[in-house]
Amino acid sequence: MSSNISFYESVQRNFEKAAQYSGLPSGLLEQIKVCNAVYQMRFPVRIGEEFEVIEAYRVQHSHHRLPTKGGIRYDLGVNQDEVMALAALMTYKCAIVDVPFGGAKGGIRINPKKYTEKQLENITRRYTAELIRKNFIGPGIDVPAPDYGTGSKEMAWIVDTYASMKHGDIDAAACVTGKPVTQNGITGREEATGRGVFYGLRELLSIEDDMKKVGLTTGMAGKKIIVQGLGNVGSYSAKICQEEGNATIICIAEWDGAVYNADGLDIAALIKHRNATGSIKNFPGATNIADSKEAIEMECDVLIPAALENQITAENAPRIKAKIIAEAANGPVAFEAEEILLKKGIIILPDMYLNAGGVTVSYFEWLKNLSHMRFGRMEKRFDHNTYQNLVSLVERMTGKTIGESEKNFLTKGADEIDLVRSGLEETMVNSFHQIREVYLSRPEINDYRTAAFLCALNKISSDYLSLGIFP
Ligand code: NAD
Repeated sequence: MSSNISFYESVQRNFEKAAQYSGLPSGLLEQIKVCNAVYQMRFPVRIGEEFEVIEAYRVQHSHHRLPTKGGIRYDLGVNQDEVMALAALMTYKCAIVDVPFGGAKGGIRINPKKYTEKQLENITRRYTAELIRKNFIGPGIDVPAPDYGTGSKEMAWIVDTYASMKHGDIDAAACVTGKPVTQNGITGREEATGRGVFYGLRELLSIEDDMKKVGLTTGMAGKKIIVQGLGNVGSYSAKICQEEGNATIICIAEWDGAVYNADGLDIAALIKHRNATGSIKNFPGATNIADSKEAIEMECDVLIPAALENQITAENAPRIKAKIIAEAANGPVAFEAEEILLKKGIIILPDMYLNAGGVTVSYFEWLKNLSHMRFGRMEKRFDHNTYQNLVSLVERMTGKTIGESEKNFLTKGADEIDLVRSGLEETMVNSFHQIREVYLSRPEINDYRTAAFLCALNKISSDYLSLGIFP
């Protein structure tokens, strides 16, 4: 889908829409809005017998807090405009979920499927070396993470390159997040964005007033959901909404087609089928839909776009039938489409809040790396012993015996995964209500995106104002 305005322009227009309600001086708004540093690079990498010149970017949108933070994307659609838009969204996202970083983003303009693993490693290592040369990476400078087309494998190559070039840096592991758990990563990072989508959507679905507006009952159970993109974010969003929210995932759309079942698709089985056959198509019990663009226009309660930006434009917005759009991807709704959707009464949960689970758990990973210790290591046994003493006391006082499985449940000390999920849930629930408070207190605002922007603007501007740079 193409939009008449660029992705970056779309983000800027959304910013301006919110900025008019902020009451902040124009100079300060301009400083918050612009990208602070843009590094565009070209470097050669040997591919087979040839040298290929690779085009890549790293954009640091805001230095109001350091380090800056944001994922790295591998895709043929990568360009400076896109990376700037994604970096800007990261600044607002971090502010919304109280993650103390400025926003950044990186991208390499390649089709990763075209290269062997060794070639991808060479490209990733060379990109990291370029970032080191220009001081664009480091635990206190700029900390990348996975995004579209990258995962823990690429992050492992990045940290290894950084550590070998910065020999002796005791905090080297904190130069990138989303690493494999065995290489200083954190349990729960891979699922974090999708899990955050689940917590955020669950929160919206619990609000009676909002559900009345769109003609739905409260709660996630039984809600009919369509997910676009079965990658990292889409697969965990779908799986967790199904397994923990009892939602009915009626359709999954991928780049090469979609599958549909009105009674719900078994997402774990569909992922296995895709891994075995290379495609989601021909999944037993489901109907194939040849044109995946049509799939997102079908009747449903919630549409979760989890692929790329500009999927809903002014062209297809009139045909969207979902009652709620939960933006798991960055920028799936183009600026011109938003007005059309809002007029239709559709509620949009904005990207910069809803997919912030990834950066939230990345923040936990960064803290873990800087503390050089896994979460839960100090207190797990202590908590377990304390709870056991309490349970024994209750048994002695009541003369009753508590069953073994109940006892295990009551006396369990928290593991790292329990703490990560609890911290993520707390963050997503809290931030939703912060945004909703702004939404309710400003009658002139009729959408969650503008409210979320305003929340972010209030927090970022107070950082600048406390520095005394702006009067
Ligand atoms: P990914 O590469 O793991 O998965 C993307 C999936 O979308 C792939 O399966 C791809 O085949 C599919 N896809 C591509 N074009 C499509 C189309 N036209 N229709 C349907 N499916 C299509 O990427 P990801 O990490 O899951 O990222 C997805 C989105 O979420 C991006 O916008 C990204 O910026 C955003 N995001 C990712 C993270 C993260 O932690 N990975 C965090 C925040 C936001």
